[in-house]
Amino acid sequence: MKEIYLDNAATTALNPRAREAMLTFLADDGNPSAIYRRAMKSRAALTKAREAAAALIKASPSEIYFTSGGTEADNWALKAVFEKARAEGKTPHMITQKTEHHAVLETCRYLEEQGAAVTYLDVDRCGIVSPAAVEAAIRPETCLISVMTANNETGCLQDVSAIGHIAGEHGVLFHTDAVQAYGHIPLDVNASAVDLMSVSAHKCGGPKGTGFLYIRKGTAVGAFLHGGAQERGRRAGTENTVGIVGFGAAAEAAASSMEDNRVRLLELRRFLTEGLMRAVPGCYLNGGSHRLPGHVNMTFPGIDGEALLIYLDMKGIAASAGSACASGSLSPSHVLTAMGLSYGDAHGTIRMTLSPDLSEEDLQFVIDTIKKGCDNIRRM
Ligand code: PLP
Repeated sequence: MKEIYLDNAATTALNPRAREAMLTFLADDGNPSAIYRRAMKSRAALTKAREAAAALIKASPSEIYFTSGGTEADNWALKAVFEKARAEGKTPHMITQKTEHHAVLETCRYLEEQGAAVTYLDVDRCGIVSPAAVEAAIRPETCLISVMTANNETGCLQDVSAIGHIAGEHGVLFHTDAVQAYGHIPLDVNASAVDLMSVSAHKCGGPKGTGFLYIRKGTAVGAFLHGGAQERGRRAGTENTVGIVGFGAAAEAAASSMEDNRVRLLELRRFLTEGLMRAVPGCYLNGGSHRLPGHVNMTFPGIDGEALLIYLDMKGIAASAGSACASGSLSPSHVLTAMGLSYGDAHGTIRMTLSPDLSEEDLQFVIDTIKKGCDNIRRM
């Protein structure tokens, strides 16, 4: 049975250039902190990867701090800003919005337990937070605004540039979780006035367990891990050189193919969306038109999304739910309910995230299978 993979927002396949770079490097990787030749080779590879990673967001390589991925980068950004504000004797206030990834939301909840005040802003029906609402929420003690670049469930793109400039005008640091956007759309930390940006390698053709936090030069953000002098003393621990080398190669590949991929993904997305709308009357797309090119988040009213996913899996199609299974009970997606979907519709929602190597034939099979799946579930 052919497998059709529609869960690229969960993780992408390893890019062949990343795989090749990692395999080559596995054979003679040294500790980059040592002084002999093998170590120098590892150090040089880290430098090259840092340059490639930085180039995609128009940052300087010295502003890139490699981490174990997006979750760590989000934790670092929020906790470090909180700690600095508290050390200055303030009661830190942070602003975020309701459709953030759990890596941000759960860190906010943890910081609330530590004494932070957090404002969770509403989004509109398209999943967008209004920059004016962000500005209105700023207080004298606000130390951080954290608003994601692209949502992982719907692909919705926030107005990061407007929010970044508002933050800058008020002297508040601005963090954005760009895990889903990095490598898929052009990003520019300077044009968007971003101070801190979280990125993960495995969402753009790199390996799992690697990512970075961009920290704008001059931003007073403390160390996340204490120990050795790695990552300019801000993130101690021997670097995951093989992972970082793979990340660098994936970033280079993404830079060279981004526009072609975007055009192809838009074609595929239109084919899938229009085909589903024709095949399954009443289904609807979530999120406005301003979103990542490969995301299709569809609600099939009256259908149990989990049952549909299981049916798709039996036919070789890997997609994911708009609702997450929490502690044995199905709780609807916080993203979809924040956008105003009813619990029922949120449960009838699935996320399909595309890759440019899919064909129209693959997607026609997906459309036909979803139609059959919905018909079967309705009959049950
Ligand atoms: N932020 C967003 C928006 C994500 O989609 C993810 C992963 O799904 C993360 C953060 C966490 O990244 P990682 O898996 O690298 O920890």
